[in-house]
Amino acid sequence: MSFRRELSVIPKPAWVIACILYAGFAILIHFLVGSDPQMSQWPLIGQLAFQLLVPLFMFPLVAFYGYIFGDARRRGMNAVGWMLLALFVPYLIGAIIYFCIRDPLPIECQSCHTAVLGRFTFCPNCGQALRPYCPQCGKGVERDWSNCAHCGTKLPAKV
Ligand SMILES: [Zn+2]
Ligand SMILES: [Zn+2]
Repeated sequence: MSFRRELSVIPKPAWVIACILYAGFAILIHFLVGSDPQMSQWPLIGQLAFQLLVPLFMFPLVAFYGYIFGDARRRGMNAVGWMLLALFVPYLIGAIIYFCIRDPLPIECQSCHTAVLGRFTFCPNCGQALRPYCPQCGKGVERDWSNCAHCGTKLPAKV
């Protein structure tokens, strides 16, 4: 999971939104600096640096919420809902909950190479089993289980 690949999860419109917010903040700060008696005395280069550098914080901020949106979408989760939750639940609690309980990443079916949502046991395209499953009820099981947690059937001994 490389950083570049994770970065590509952020949808392109997020960068457009970041640019618009950056420009908006830069203009806002420009007027603040111009109307502040103390800051308007600063050398021009200092004023300019302040106006252009401070709004840069918009980029990591928008990228963070854009990442949650794109990451939820590729995991087959409610992308808009999770992004809004992360955005509006204070102290990053919404974002922390998201990263704790998000669904696993899609896996590639070995047989037909379709990307399948990580919570599925079988490939919806070709029916190939993607993980160990219970022979009785067909639900996914963990390798170290002796009995199926869904239906109670004794699972075959591990080899
Ligand atoms: Zn398949
Ligand atoms: Zn079962």
